[in-house]
Formats: sequence, structure tokens, C-alpha cells
Amino acid sequence: MNWEDYEKKLRELGYKNDDLAAIKPAFEFAQKTHTGEKRASGEPYITHPIAVSLNVASLKIDASAIAAALLHDVVESQGVKIEELKKRFGGEIAFLVGALTKAERVQYRGVERAVESLRKMFLALAEDIRVVIIKLMDRLHNMETLSYLLPEKQKRIALETLELYAPLADRLGMWEVKARLEDLAFPYVYPDEHKWMLTQTKHRKDEEEKYLKNLKPVLEAELKKDSVEPLQIIYRAKHLYSIWKKLVKKYEMNFDRITDLVAMRIILKNNEDCYRTLGVIHKLWRPIPGKIKDYIALPKTNGYRSLHTTVFGPDGKKIDIQIRTKEMDEEAEHGIAAHWFYESEGKKSATKKLDDRRFAWVRQLQDWQKAHSGTSHAETLSALKIDFFKDRVFALTPKGDVIDLPEGATPVDFAYHVHSEIGNRMSGAKVNGKMVPFSYSLKSGDSVEILTQKNKKPTSDWLDFAKTSIARQHIRSYLKKAGAGYPLKKGKEKFEAVATARDRVGLLKDFSEVFAKLGINILDVKLDSKNKLYPKTIFYFHPKKGLPNSKLLMALKQVKNVEAVVIKEVK
Ligand code: MN
Repeated sequence: MNWEDYEKKLRELGYKNDDLAAIKPAFEFAQKTHTGEKRASGEPYITHPIAVSLNVASLKIDASAIAAALLHDVVESQGVKIEELKKRFGGEIAFLVGALTKAERVQYRGVERAVESLRKMFLALAEDIRVVIIKLMDRLHNMETLSYLLPEKQKRIALETLELYAPLADRLGMWEVKARLEDLAFPYVYPDEHKWMLTQTKHRKDEEEKYLKNLKPVLEAELKKDSVEPLQIIYRAKHLYSIWKKLVKKYEMNFDRITDLVAMRIILKNNEDCYRTLGVIHKLWRPIPGKIKDYIALPKTNGYRSLHTTVFGPDGKKIDIQIRTKEMDEEAEHGIAAHWFYESEGKKSATKKLDDRRFAWVRQLQDWQKAHSGTSHAETLSALKIDFFKDRVFALTPKGDVIDLPEGATPVDFAYHVHSEIGNRMSGAKVNGKMVPFSYSLKSGDSVEILTQKNKKPTSDWLDFAKTSIARQHIRSYLKKAGAGYPLKKGKEKFEAVATARDRVGLLKDFSEVFAKLGINILDVKLDSKNKLYPKTIFYFHPKKGLPNSKLLMALKQVKNVEAVVIKEVK
């Protein structure tokens, strides 16, 4: 693509002369630098940074981010020095490119290197959200062109995408990106399941689309009578991977229970039109009780806004309908990016950091990084997966602030996430007005009040209750300072369970569930991936009274893909 075509695309997306003047030198430099270099597909390499930068531009982020996207591989693949970029393009763009460049080649290899590059990315995420947005767009294009790589590489990259990049996009509210990443990774990680899903959905999808298409004029005519003019009515097939996950989790693989392969989405000018449209639809088709959701008046904790309803259409067929404004729609697709854009609009030099409470965890990451600076890479990665990418629980402080925690978190985690001093002085906890034990598993929507006492101190038991590494780190450092026999209580034996299993998505979660079901608290998890295909997961735990370890052994052996389990005492 030449500059003229590229410029035209950017103008269509709303970029102005100033922006283009800033982007053009980066475009030319990238083109010159990548001359002669080829992608695995055989295409000129420059097609990649161009595609990534256009993806970034579609999120309407600033010119520096687009320039950085164009330049994101010049250091890595052509050895351009960051210093040179600084001279040519200034500190901001050089910083972004530096953060996007993987660790030095000689320093790390294989998995270690991948982990190090992730670690770098997370560090940058806390500093400047644009880095991660560009990185996600980079991953998206790499996934789109994954078929050209060797099978072994394909599998690893696709798995990493499912386990880290898709959840990351999800946590950033970039749901559209998340769904695309998952659908691209699906056939590589679960080839047989993917094939099966394709044959199952093909016929029904076409049918449902046709059905909804026929309803469009009917709905439009009704809306017109109420003088509502929708900006757009679209039918969207649900994403394949998300349907498959639903099948596994909720529907016992019974495909007939999936009723909503295709959903109708109506985009309107303002909130009033949204509510009027909902009224018109309910006059036209009978709504299913309990399926009407007003996420405009009460947005989801992750910020999602929309009206949802499910109605019986002609022939008694169920139709899922989403009603929202254009702004809500963009926010749902672009997430943090849309948010960042709206916030920084008009105040160009404004800080690039986020102040929104929804994204408070982005700032938590910075503390988290510091806390883990001494630990090994594999450990960091497995802790990261638990702390940030496990399913989330949103609990509330008495003032209504949202505290975002991983599933299984307890009041101890909550207290430390509010403030380390509150954690250190915690004497008890009330959930929804009732006293609960320290081991209580928090649920979304729980209102949590932490009781404190001046001379209360953490004890090593607390390590059993704390599930997040932030809380554990605080407790440990307190115990260390106090010289309190960390990490073991006297007389309490500690065991390790080493499970060797063929790596797959959800493995860690399945293991955690076994421990949870037996009521055993995991003290720590480590990952040993010397054998890439069959990594070892190591769990540390105190045995539960009256429960022989053989029970745990048997239960762990029954987890899918597990080859061997060994349990022994740690001296
Ligand atoms: Mn790249």
C-alpha cells in the first residue's frame, strides 16, 4: 500500500492534517527499513505494520500510537536503535516502540523469552495503555496470518492467545477484539471441536439470519409509527468459540439447547429512543419474563451498557435483541480504547493514564510488578494468570466502590486490595451485613465491610486465606519484618502435588477446582515447563485433617489430560 491509499484510509477514519503530518515520516521510515524483508506468507513485511496500524487507527487513538504501530517491528527485526527513533520521532513514539519490542535476544530463550516479553508488556500497560492496545492489534494480525507458520509454533501462539491475550482484551473491555482472537485461536487449539462446531452451526446460522432479515421491515414500520428512526439494524452471528464455551459449561454439549446463534442489534440516536424501541418491540412480540435487562440504568460492573430482551417472534421463535446508542456500541467494541479516546479528546497533552475506577486494576499491575520482581519467570506467569485472568468477582466497599478480585478471593484479599494497612489490621469481616469467616469465598455484588483493630496482626494462617499474590506478598513481608517463622507454622506439614499434564486451556482452573471441592487451600502454584508439551504444575498445600492425600491424588488424576501425579512432603 502506498502513502496515498494509506492517507485516504486514515482520512476516512477522521484523522486530520496535523495527524497525517505526524504519521507520514513513520510510514516512510518503516517502509524503507523493512524493504526486502518478507513475512512467512511471502508478502512484503511492511504489510504487517500497516495492517496493525490501521487496526489501531480504527479505534481512533492518537497519531503517536499509529506511528508507533507502523514502527513496532523495526527494532526487533531490523536492529534499529531506540536512540535513533528518539532522534527522528521524539521520546513519546520511541517509548511506545521500546515497550513493544521483545526482550534482548541473547538474554532469554523459548518460554522464558515469551514470559519476559509479556512481563515487559504488563509493565508498560500500567504506564501507558496504548502499548497494550497496539500489542493486541499486533497479535490480532499475527493470528490472522497464523496459517503460514509451522504447526508447532501455531499451537503455542494460539494457546497463548486464548490464555492471555483474549482475557486481557476482555479485561480492557475490548469484547470485539477478544471474540476475534478467540475465534482465530479456536481451530489451532481445539481442531476437532472446531470442525464439529462448524458443521453444527452452518445450516442453522443461515436459517436464523434469513428469519431475522424478514423481520427487519416489520420492525422498521412499527418504529416509524412511533417516529423512531434507528441508525442501524444488524444481525450478528454469535462467535463460535463463545458458543462452544457455553455448550461445555452450561448445556452439556447438547446443541439443541443453543437458541440464539444470531442476535439482532438496534443502534439508535439517544437513550430515549432506546427505551421507546424496547416498548415498540414488546408491543410487537411477546417478551420472555426475566430476560429484560436494563444495563443503561444499571451498567454492568465492567461498564457495559445496553438494553437486552428476548422475545417470541413469529412462529414462536426466540429472538435475542440488543438495543443501544452508537456511543454504547463503540464502547462495547473498543473498550478502554474508546474510553481513552473520549477522555483525552480536546485536551491533547492530558495524561495518558486512566483514572476510571473500572480500570483500577491497571494501576494495581504496577504494584504487582514490583512485588514480583524477584521471582522466577514461570512463577510470575502462573501468578499472573491467577491474579488477573481468572474469572472475576466484583465486590463492593460500604461506599459502593468496586473492588475487582479473582474468583475464590476472600475478605483477606479484599482488605489488602483496599489498603495494606487495612489488611494488616483486619480483625473480622461482614458480608452483606453478616459476619463471615476469613475463608469466605466472595461473590460478585457482595458488599464487604472489613473490621479492624489497632493491635491486630497478620498471622501465618492468613496465607491460607489469601488467594491473590498481592495479599500474600503483603502478609509475607509483614511476617518477615515481624520475624514470625515465615512461611510455615510450627508443626504444620507442607506438601507438594506435582501434576504432569499435556498443556491445554483451562487446565489450571480444573486443578484449582479439585482443590476447592476437597476444601484444600492452595498455598502456592508453580509451573515447570522444561518439557513444553507436558509441563508440570506444582501445588503447595497443607493437608486437610481427616482427608488422606490419596483422595487428592485420585481426584487430580481424573482431570483431563493428566499423565501423572506425585504427592510428597516438602522439607
Ligand atoms: Mn508485529
